[in-house]
Amino acid sequence: MKTYGFAAIDAREPLVPFTFERRAPRANDVVMEILYSGVCHSDLHMARNDWHWTVYPLVPGHEIVGRVIEIGSEVTRYKVGDHVAVGCMVDSCLECDQCGRGEEQLCRKGNTGTYNAPDRITGDITRGGYSKHLVVREEFACRIPDGLDLSRAAPLLCAGITTYSPLRTWNVGPGSRVGVIGLGGLGHMAVKLAAAMGAEVTVLSRSSGKAEDALALGADKLLISTDAEAMEAAQSSFDLIVDTVPVKHDLDPYLPLLDVDGTLVIVGQVGPMSAFNSVPMLLGRRRVAGSPIGGIRQTQELLDFCARKNVLPDVEMIRMDQINQAFDRMERSDVRYRFVIDMASLQAA
Ligand SMILES: [Zn+2]
Ligand SMILES: [Zn+2]
Repeated sequence: MKTYGFAAIDAREPLVPFTFERRAPRANDVVMEILYSGVCHSDLHMARNDWHWTVYPLVPGHEIVGRVIEIGSEVTRYKVGDHVAVGCMVDSCLECDQCGRGEEQLCRKGNTGTYNAPDRITGDITRGGYSKHLVVREEFACRIPDGLDLSRAAPLLCAGITTYSPLRTWNVGPGSRVGVIGLGGLGHMAVKLAAAMGAEVTVLSRSSGKAEDALALGADKLLISTDAEAMEAAQSSFDLIVDTVPVKHDLDPYLPLLDVDGTLVIVGQVGPMSAFNSVPMLLGRRRVAGSPIGGIRQTQELLDFCARKNVLPDVEMIRMDQINQAFDRMERSDVRYRFVIDMASLQAA
């Protein structure tokens, strides 16, 4: 089927309107009309080839909310008219131990990214949510529960699940002491989700400028990481620190903040980190970990949790033709806290 969207043609040019083919739906596929598409920092990195594996033309977008407009002959989970969501992956082997546990993001054979990845059957490069339609096998679509605001749900599919998953892995609940480093797209979701789970949430920031925002998002307090006295007083006072900083940075100031057996989990930076001192890790049996997105089952759990608890990302709605300005503003961290594209603004070229 013919569809259209916006694509990066190379690493230096702005995104431009782009017409392309989606595969004809297979028996287990649903066809979605995309209603909203979140703008993730990865989209910007991929468009500019920052990770050196971009295949052009690139149609980014892996925070996708839409409506089913057609189903394959063997689809059982969805019917035409259902509201569904797709995140960062559209396929995996569904046969290995990890897929069997509902951890398709950790598939032994690799999951298939929603964009810039070879389709497991045809080898065609996948294209993401900055487009009018998406064709996806039903196992990789989630249901949008009734009552969840469609226009704000899209960022849950990457920023949401990326922060929800480690909170679940480390059993955050009432009484957990959770720190969040960085208050961007990921960080603001980590704060909201941890607070909704009943945790005591502290935002770690270099200055007091974020205090008002942190409290408004549901944090209990702000800890200023440049305040040596406050950092000293906060030693051994966290069970989990969610580190959402998306660039290379130094962990030494944060590790002593963890209690015995506490974990600092990296979810933001994809790439090199500064060297760190092992002493606080050894002495306090502290851990540094990483975590990617979550599996499909957990993503559905997140959507249901957010509907039940009324947890929604703070979004700024843009038109499709504003994407290049949005990228520029994201580079300056000038967004509170996630751009979402209203795909009704996307017209055929
Ligand atoms: Zn993302
Ligand atoms: Zn697998």
